[in-house]
Amino acid sequence: MKNKSNLFAGTTLQDPYISVVVPVYQNRETLYALFNRLHQVLQSKGFSYEIIFVNDASPDDLLVILEKLARENSQVGVLDLERNIGQNQAVLVGLRYARGTCVVIMDADLQDPPEAIPDLVDKLQEGTAAVFAGRRGQYESPFRLFTSRLFKKLLQLLCGVPEDAGIFVAMNRHTVKCLLGFNTTRPSIVAMIGCTQLPLVSIPVVRAQRPSGISAYSFWRRFKAGLLTIAWVIAWKWFPGFRTSKRCE
Ligand code: UDP
Ligand code: MG
Repeated sequence: MKNKSNLFAGTTLQDPYISVVVPVYQNRETLYALFNRLHQVLQSKGFSYEIIFVNDASPDDLLVILEKLARENSQVGVLDLERNIGQNQAVLVGLRYARGTCVVIMDADLQDPPEAIPDLVDKLQEGTAAVFAGRRGQYESPFRLFTSRLFKKLLQLLCGVPEDAGIFVAMNRHTVKCLLGFNTTRPSIVAMIGCTQLPLVSIPVVRAQRPSGISAYSFWRRFKAGLLTIAWVIAWKWFPGFRTSKRCE
């Protein structure tokens, strides 16, 4: 693995049905509530599951909370990254450890409701490669919503990903394997899933406003990430020499 990470505690389940991968950066306030809601919904549906938290070198003390959750719950695993590598890369590190039949990616700040996971997983059983939680609701400022919709529309035109797709997504093992094969240093998970050319769908899910703290994405960070993603998709699709891995179909 390129980015050094310490596995504080592996989960003990052999073959969980669901793996939930959560990148974490300055989200200490929501971690207990996130775990409790995940546990409640997944257990009530009878799913075996693991939750893999990836601490993206958060400067606060949230690792203490993650370690406590892992000590007290055999379903929780923690990866502790040496340096901050950003949400998408942190997710990719987590995906390498995920062993579930279905793998779900979600944010740590409770904007993505854990209660939507059973619907995403049910839909996945219909044979699609990935089911996105199609973003609904007034979960951020009108300006951010507008620019985000424009960006998503462009991404849909370029790589066929559903126009309401965000990074809250359920995937089968084959899709995870494809993502891990991309071998890019600046990944965008949503664009990469689109570029697999596998069958994708979204189902509407109301996203919540952030209950605490502020987004890790400033205007410029979003802008830069958006531009790099568009450039990456164009290069991937139209300049095959740029590809470091085979097309995954
Ligand atoms: N995140 C991360 N590394 C970073 C920035 C963010 O792992 O450098 C995680 C963060 O903890 C959260 C997710 O990425 O789980 C989305 O971040 P945020 O909620 O700040 O973004 P937004 O919802 O505004 O897109
Ligand atoms: Mg958020």
